[in-house]
Amino acid sequence: MTIAVTAATGQLGSLVIDSLLTKTTPDQVVAIIRDPAKAESLTAKGVDVRIASYDDSQALNAALAGVDRLLLISGNEMGQRAAQHKNVIDAAIAQGVGLLAYTSAPAVDTSTLPVAPEHLETETYLASTELNHVLLRNGWYHENYVPAIDAARQSGAVLTSAGDGRVASAARADFAEAAAVVLTTDAPLKRVYELGGDVAWTQADLAAAVSEIIEAPVTVAEVTPDEQRAILVSAGVPEVWADFTVDTDASIKDGELEVTSGDLSALIGRPTTPLVESLRQAG
Ligand code: NDP
Repeated sequence: MTIAVTAATGQLGSLVIDSLLTKTTPDQVVAIIRDPAKAESLTAKGVDVRIASYDDSQALNAALAGVDRLLLISGNEMGQRAAQHKNVIDAAIAQGVGLLAYTSAPAVDTSTLPVAPEHLETETYLASTELNHVLLRNGWYHENYVPAIDAARQSGAVLTSAGDGRVASAARADFAEAAAVVLTTDAPLKRVYELGGDVAWTQADLAAAVSEIIEAPVTVAEVTPDEQRAILVSAGVPEVWADFTVDTDASIKDGELEVTSGDLSALIGRPTTPLVESLRQAG
């Protein structure tokens, strides 16, 4: 069986490749990347490296030749992603790929998360095709909160407008392992996996985790969305990212990142990695 992973140079993609290599042999793994200059470390692992940008249908068709199972990792070029993902899906159909797994976001059909619309467009397109597919609706990465460590070192606080909303984030490596399981298993698969960590934490829990890491007291600075935006922009955060953070906190406040399905620990067959552990590793 030939298993391909797109965006294999990315943080998630690299971890998926590593996890696949614990479950199968390198000659069965294809790493699809867009930048040949980044191929070296993947080539050294013995996998077949193929070059294709999401914007290049011809290259995508060539890269997917002979592929049985494909992980399409969502891109990071906001606003262009739905069209790019469609290129990959069309190439997968043309090349007769037997299973495509797509990394989406929690409950995108009802979500107000700023990232949801592009994921929904891709999910909707997939549903309109005959292509056998699985939706890996990845919750937030623990690693998204690494910047909170330095911020707390400076301010002694975790800044938020998320109120009592809980976040069932998980380590990137856990999401990667789940994807590798889906790509290699012979067991029946669900159509939709809502993937999140075992613990849905509060902002107080985040403050406690950061406090443990920096070995200093950390409080929760609960502010309004407008105050949060102003504080972030005055600290030098680009407006587009300040807006993204504020909008994400609004979704968190509404419980949209409190994923309680248990799908992630069920797929990986163990409890998910605790927040504090990932923050300590990455911070
Ligand atoms: P990274 O930013 O580390 O990786 C993104 C990857 O996408 C890179 O390998 C990049 O290639 C590749 N890519 C971007 N545009 C194209 C393109 N046009 N053609 C081919 N490849 C492309 O993100 P992560 O690995 O951390 O996360 C994976 C995805 O998950 C993100 O792209 C995003 O969609 C989503 N995400 C999820 C988060 C969450 O909390 N669940 C948080 C952040 C993102 P290159 O190496 O050449 O730049």
